Amino acid sequence: MAYEKIENKVKNTIKKYKLFSKKDNVLVACSGGKDSTTLAYILKKLGYNIKAITINPSIKERESSSKNLENLRKFCRENEIMLYEYSFKEEFGRTLLEIRKNINSKGIEMPYCTICGILKRYLLNKKAKELKADKIATGHVLDDEAESVFMNLLRGNVELLSRLGPISGVKKSKKFVPRVKPLYFCKEEEIIIYSKKKKFPVAYERCPYAKSSYREIVRNELISFEKKNKNTKENIIKWFLGILPDIKKEFEKQGEISYCEICGEPSKNKICNACSIITKIR
Ligand SMILES: [Zn+2]
Repeated sequence: MAYEKIENKVKNTIKKYKLFSKKDNVLVACSGGKDSTTLAYILKKLGYNIKAITINPSIKERESSSKNLENLRKFCRENEIMLYEYSFKEEFGRTLLEIRKNINSKGIEMPYCTICGILKRYLLNKKAKELKADKIATGHVLDDEAESVFMNLLRGNVELLSRLGPISGVKKSKKFVPRVKPLYFCKEEEIIIYSKKKKFPVAYERCPYAKSSYREIVRNELISFEKKNKNTKENIIKWFLGILPDIKKEFEKQGEISYCEICGEPSKNKICNACSIITKIR
């Protein structure tokens, strides 16, 4: 049945790419949305040792954000999954809106999605280390990855391209908890069907702040392209996985990993993106 098809896809992806084993402590990055909720459910069902973590960007005006959190709490309670909750407000003393306003006033124009993404990744890694997690599993699906590949291709950003794939990042580091994508080969439409059949308490709308982002433009282009040309997204992934080992090797050659002077997290620059935002808002 359709259920088994998705579950087997996840199982095979974990095995084929050695994402984690049954002994590993896996933290599932949950938003309360359909993808990460489905991921947590399937991993639990397959017998993996999982806990959930959620990072709330504290957008007060955004009704769906607190609704998502309520949904997630309900789902975790019903499925006996431990949930760790963190928020921008508690960790940084400000909401996402306040953070953007603040750095904008210092002359730095950064879209919500960029700030939200950087700060979420930063907190995820920090908290995952504190919680002694071996891996962080994210709910990225095939469509998300095809968008990312295409986006970096259009921007000519080979380095960011090299960090994609079923296992995020290039270099291994003790200070960095690896992020993995067990839904890598699952299509968004399959997840919607699965999640609806299972009646997960999730919202299906996308983040309203993402609407004007570059990713959203690329997403819509790919959707209309796929309508006329079947398997476009799958073919992008197929092509990308073919060239990925070579581009990863190229960037691995470029020496040791460096660390942020402020927080000690892995960073390409002296000060990581998250710290440069955090120092600006203080
Ligand atoms: Zn830092």
